[in-house]
Amino acid sequence: MNDLINKQNETEILKIVKNNQRNFDYNKKKIEQILLKERGFIVNIDKNDSIVLLISGGLDSVITLSYIIEKFGVNVYPLFIKRGARAEKKELESTQYYINFYKEKYGDRVKDLFILNDEDIPAKQLKNDFPKERMKAIGHPLRNSTLQNYAVMYATYVNSKYNESVRTILTGSVGDDTTCPELSILSLRSQTLNVCINLGDWNWQITSPLIDLELTDKVIFKKDLILWAKEKKIPLSKTRTCVSDSDIADGTCSECKRRLKVFRELGLKDEVEYLTDKNF
Ligand SMILES: [Zn+2]
Repeated sequence: MNDLINKQNETEILKIVKNNQRNFDYNKKKIEQILLKERGFIVNIDKNDSIVLLISGGLDSVITLSYIIEKFGVNVYPLFIKRGARAEKKELESTQYYINFYKEKYGDRVKDLFILNDEDIPAKQLKNDFPKERMKAIGHPLRNSTLQNYAVMYATYVNSKYNESVRTILTGSVGDDTTCPELSILSLRSQTLNVCINLGDWNWQITSPLIDLELTDKVIFKKDLILWAKEKKIPLSKTRTCVSDSDIADGTCSECKRRLKVFRELGLKDEVEYLTDKNF
């Protein structure tokens, strides 16, 4: 049995996690069989469905909003969850900017931004003593599922308040997100099953339209989203990918590096301003 508890080395953690995912496809299929048996489909989005989108102000979730409206014709309830991140203020500014931008572009399909104040996910009391290497390798434990569970609660609120029937929660996970198990399609299937069972309602679904092959012909990567944004004339200068607390993106954190690498590979200049001259 491969156990992750108190492993101190990032490479070792990633190796164990990878090995523990060796039955990924088999496990995914098993969950899909349960969903098929209970409701006749794995995931399904119809035109004019209302959905909740978890949005963070980063490149991926910002462009995903445009992608799902144009591709699926859905109505979007955007949800920003305050979780005590260092870059939160800038993330929120970015999110608000794009919600306004998309309201102009898509009208009523984009609903008002809802800002959920939880302050700390995970709770600061716990987070401060989480193993640093684990965080670096695969993120905080159950952070994404916690956000998704909040999104389900928000959908329940929307249904009651606006007489809606939202059962779909979408995230902007892209094909590039491969290390953290919580960003995988298996995690999203597992979350779907978890929510359906716990709510006693088989109509719920949590997924990313970018990596879910039930919804897209091919997995969509960050580079595809950037090209989509260019084509749709979505300015990317206000997106906030940097996780540092500085007003201007530092260009040096792991998220900045990942983003800049994709722009470089595309031969495009990132419109975002950087503290260091790492851009291009
Ligand atoms: Zn950064």
